[in-house]
Amino acid sequence: MIRNRRARIVATLGPATASAEGVLALARAGADVFRLNFSHGTHKDHEASLGLVRAAEKIVERPLGVLADLQGPKLRLGDFADGEVKLAAGQPFRLDLNESLGDANRVCLPHREIFAALTPDTDLLIDDGRARLRVVACGPDFADTVTVGEATLSNHKGVNLPGVALAISPLTPKDREDLAFALRLGVDWVALSFVQRAADMAELRRLVGGKAAVLAKIEKPAALLELDPILDLCDGIMVARGDLGVELLPEEVPVVQKALVRAARARGIPVIVATQMMESMRDAPTPTRAEASDVAGAVYEGADAMMLSAETASGHYPIEAVGMMSRIIERVEHDPNWPAVMEAEHTLEDDATDSMVAAARRAADAASTACLVAYTATGQTALRLARRRPLQPTLALTPDINVARRLSLVWGIEPRIAGHPDSVESMTEIAVRIAADIGLAGPGQRVLILAGIPFGSPGSANILRLAHTPR
Ligand code: PGA
Ligand code: MN
Repeated sequence: MIRNRRARIVATLGPATASAEGVLALARAGADVFRLNFSHGTHKDHEASLGLVRAAEKIVERPLGVLADLQGPKLRLGDFADGEVKLAAGQPFRLDLNESLGDANRVCLPHREIFAALTPDTDLLIDDGRARLRVVACGPDFADTVTVGEATLSNHKGVNLPGVALAISPLTPKDREDLAFALRLGVDWVALSFVQRAADMAELRRLVGGKAAVLAKIEKPAALLELDPILDLCDGIMVARGDLGVELLPEEVPVVQKALVRAARARGIPVIVATQMMESMRDAPTPTRAEASDVAGAVYEGADAMMLSAETASGHYPIEAVGMMSRIIERVEHDPNWPAVMEAEHTLEDDATDSMVAAARRAADAASTACLVAYTATGQTALRLARRRPLQPTLALTPDINVARRLSLVWGIEPRIAGHPDSVESMTEIAVRIAADIGLAGPGQRVLILAGIPFGSPGSANILRLAHTPR
């Protein structure tokens, strides 16, 4: 099974799909990477899900990635004696560290770090921004606020502090347990929520210790101020528009999305556009046309992957959502204007170490090439090639199943397992045979092979060979 598209699809598993048939149907409909959302479900659930993906992978004969998404320091209110309170506009309301149940005058906000960071005039957004409290006075263990507009506060609602950098570890004790568990399971990618600074990613990298690739979810405005140092420590990023959209004004989100896609593409690390892409398909068999347009927009931007959350985790039409996303991607990629639009905002500096990759990209353009083949021990050569967005698919051959699974998130890459060749002849023979076998190249077509000699030693590619499949 190969994909007839370059952009990839990430599907979140949940009650609607976490069964053998569900996962297999998602993979067949077009899911390339499966997300285990550690904000929900038990370790047992996630362990079972991982097993289902590995089983489906054997059936579809194509590497499938698994991404563990760590909840991160999601901030929440405490509970109320009556479950909820309604506040009138301008009504005073106190937040504190007192663990007793809340009422119409106060509630617990069990995060000391928040009080340390508050200053008068800071706004706290509650329940995805549905309620807003403005700080008038504060101390190390309380904040007196006024309600901006009417507000309903209820048990355990999420709290966002736009623009406030909190002195908070990005990895809660729960995240640390979840991470250790996910690494034991052998997930391919680990995503961290609410990354604020480079040190957060450094901590994640240290804990992961190379056992998985790491991805920063960009959903805090603070992260945008430190983006380059954060990206230096990332193997990929996610434009997490759910929380980002609470902390930023609506008109800022598309602009930030474009900037993040551009930054990731310039570096050659995969970028996922996430959240609400097909939200209405939770309850309907077709998306709104605005949603179709949103997905298409991300494809035109050249994002590596688009993500489905509740649509596939708990929606009524999970398989249809993946199928629809796949069709929208394919349709855009058949638009004759797509390559030019995708490249419009992207200028790549020619890195000297990339000269072979650049040459392969140009050679593929000139000759009517069916596909590129990259021999890649670590995945690096495949990533550098994908960065140039060649219009032909790239068969990435690696002996390492972990590398192959990580590459399933990357634009245009068809990863497959193959041992290191022992000669240029066998390199050519293996590449041509696999490309023909899986249908990337038809009889008598050109295949451009990129590899590094000596075979199997990590380092940049140093040979480019033009070959043909047998007629
Ligand atoms: P979440 O992350 O679904 O884990 O909140 C994605 C987002 O915020 O967009
Ligand atoms: Mn989020």
